[in-house]
Amino acid sequence: MLADEIKEFFRGDVAVDDETLAKFSRDYSVFKVRPEVVVFPRDVDDLKNLVRFVVGKKVAGENVSLTGRSAGTDMTGGPLSRSIIVSFTKYFNHIIEIGPAVKLGDAAEVRVEPGVYFRDLEKELKKRDLLYPAFPASKDLCALGGMVNNNSGGEKTLAYGKTEDYVRALNVVLADGEAHTIWPLSGTDFASKLNEQSFEGDVYRRMYALIQDNYEEIMKAKPNVSKNSAGYYLWNIWDKERDTFDLTQLFVGSQGTLGLLTEAKLGLVRAKKHSRLAVVFLRTLDPVGDLVEEVLKFKPESIESYDDKTIQVAVKLWRQVLGSMKGNIFKLAWQFIPEMLMVMRGGMPKMIMLVELTGDDEPALVAELKRLGVAIEKFAVTHPGIQVKTLDNESDEEKYWTIRRQSFALLHNNTTGKDTAPFIDDFVVQPKYMHEVLPKINAILDRYKDDLIYTIAGHPGNGNFHIIPLMDLRSDRVRALIPKIAEEVYQLIFQYGGSMTGEHNDGLIRTPYLEEMYGKKIVELFAEVKNIFDPRDIFNPGKKVDGDLEYSVEHIAPTG
Ligand SMILES: Cc1cc2nc3c(=O)[nH]c(=O)nc-3n(C[C@H](O)[C@H](O)[C@H](O)COP(=O)(O)OP(=O)(O)OC[C@H]3O[C@@H](n4cnc5c(N)ncnc54)[C@H](O)[C@@H]3O)c2cc1C
Repeated sequence: MLADEIKEFFRGDVAVDDETLAKFSRDYSVFKVRPEVVVFPRDVDDLKNLVRFVVGKKVAGENVSLTGRSAGTDMTGGPLSRSIIVSFTKYFNHIIEIGPAVKLGDAAEVRVEPGVYFRDLEKELKKRDLLYPAFPASKDLCALGGMVNNNSGGEKTLAYGKTEDYVRALNVVLADGEAHTIWPLSGTDFASKLNEQSFEGDVYRRMYALIQDNYEEIMKAKPNVSKNSAGYYLWNIWDKERDTFDLTQLFVGSQGTLGLLTEAKLGLVRAKKHSRLAVVFLRTLDPVGDLVEEVLKFKPESIESYDDKTIQVAVKLWRQVLGSMKGNIFKLAWQFIPEMLMVMRGGMPKMIMLVELTGDDEPALVAELKRLGVAIEKFAVTHPGIQVKTLDNESDEEKYWTIRRQSFALLHNNTTGKDTAPFIDDFVVQPKYMHEVLPKINAILDRYKDDLIYTIAGHPGNGNFHIIPLMDLRSDRVRALIPKIAEEVYQLIFQYGGSMTGEHNDGLIRTPYLEEMYGKKIVELFAEVKNIFDPRDIFNPGKKVDGDLEYSVEHIAPTG
C-alpha cells in the first residue's frame, strides 16, 4: 500500500482512515474527490523525500501525485485529489518572525509557514498595529498557504491590492526534490542564476526564454481588469524597465501546481486607526458604475455590496446572523427591524453598497464621511432610487459587515435538500460595465429559476462579484446544468474583456475554460510553464493545465 511505503521514510503522520479521507475529499466547492492517503509532513526533509518518492513512482509508470492543502476553504476543488494530499496545518503552522521591512513602502515583513491560520496571524499583527491587507472574506477560516496559492484578495484589495502585491520571497520544494528560495532577481544576481548548472538554473533559463520569445503576446493577454486569479500570471514576471525577474509572481496563485510551499515572506502595512461606513441603498442597478466612480474620488478602503436576495436570506436566518455578532441579542435584533420591514413591504433595494473610509485622525475622517454622504445625495438628484446613510460610530457598522461577510456561510450551513454551488462565483469586469453585465447575468440565471436560487455579493469597486446559487446537487439533471450555465456566464464575461475569477482561482471548476478566456497560444504557454517546473506532472494535476470538464462534472456531489 502507498501509505505503508510512505511510512518507511516519513517523520510526519500518514492517514488512511475513513474519517480523514472523507474530510479531505471536500473543500468548499461542489466537488468530492476521495484521496488515497493524507500525509502531515513534519519538516522540509519530509517533503523532499516525498517528492523523490513520487518521482520514483512516476518513473516506474504509477499514477501518483502530490496536492498541497492548507485550510481547505478553496471554492474550486483546488486542494482535492485522488492520490496523496499533503496537509500543512498540523506541523507547518508557525509565525517565524515579524520583523523590519526590507522592501521600500512596506511597514514590516512577516515570515510564515503555510499552515498558519490567518486569524492567528491577524491577532499578532493587531498587537503591533500592522495589517496584512490582502485577506479574503474567509479570513477566519483560511490559512496563509492557500492565500498565497490562490492569490487571494478581499474587501481591502481596492485600496491595497492582492496577495501578489505582498509576496516578497517564497520557500518551495520543487520537482527535483530540493528546497529552493525564490525572490525578485536583477542585475548580476539574475545573470548568475541564469548561469547556474542546476534544476533551478534550468528553470530560470527556460522561463526567461519563454517570456522573451513570446513577450508581446504575453503582455497582450493580461486581462484588463483590476484583479485576476485565472491562469499563470506570465505578464508579471519580467519587469523590463526595472530589470527584475520575479518567479514569485508565477508561484503566487498557481494552486500548488508548480511545487510545495513551505514558507512565505510577506509585506505588511500599518493599519489605519479608525474607519467609518456609508451605506448606500440602490433600487436600480443602472447608476452603479457611475456611482462607484463618484465614490472612488473619496479614496475608500473598500466598496462592498450584497443584493436583495442576500437580505432576504439574512432576515430569514436572523437568529444565526445575530449569533455571529457581538453584543446583546435583543439590542441586535432591534437593529434588524428596518430590514424586516423592507422584506415585508417588498420595498427592497436591488443592491446595498458599503463604502468604508479609514484614517488616523478621527474628526477629519468623520468630516470626510459627511462630505461623501453629501456627494452621494447630490448624485441621487440626477440618479433617482438612491439613498445613503452615514453611520456615526463603528458599532452601527457590524450588522452590515456581518451580512456581507456571512452571506456564503449562512447559505452553506442552513439549507436542507439544496447545496451552495459556487461555480460562477467570482467574475470580474471593469466597473464601468457593471450596470450592463449584472442585469444580463440576472437574465441568464432567471431562465433557470426553477432549479436555482442565488445571491450576489461582491466588490463593486473592483467590478468583482460572487454569485452563490443554491441547487439540488442530488439531481443528475441539475448537476448537468452547471457546465451549461457556466458556459453562458463566462461567454458574457469574456465579451466584456473580463476574467472568470478575480480571487478564488481555477481549480477543477474553471481550468477547463482557460482556453476560452486566454486563447490557444497562451494556454500552450501555460502547459510549457508546467512542463518546465513539473515535467512528470506530480504536483496537483488537472489544475491550471489539462483541465478535463468531464472529470470535473463527474465529481460534482451533494454535501452530506
Ligand atoms: C465563505 C468563503 C469566502 C471566501 N472569500 C474569498 C475571498 O474574499 N477572496 C479569496 O481570494 N478567496 C475567498 N475564498 C476562497 C478561499 O477561502 C481562499 O482562497 C483562501 O485563501 C484559501 O486558503 P486555504 O488555506 O483554505 O487554502 P486551501 O483550500 O487549502 O488551498 C487552496 C489552494 O492552494 C493549494 N495549496 C495550499 N497550501 C499549499 C502548499 N503549502 N503548497 C502548495 N499548494 C498549496 C491547494 O492545493 C489549493 O489549490 C472564500 C471561501 C469561502 C468558503
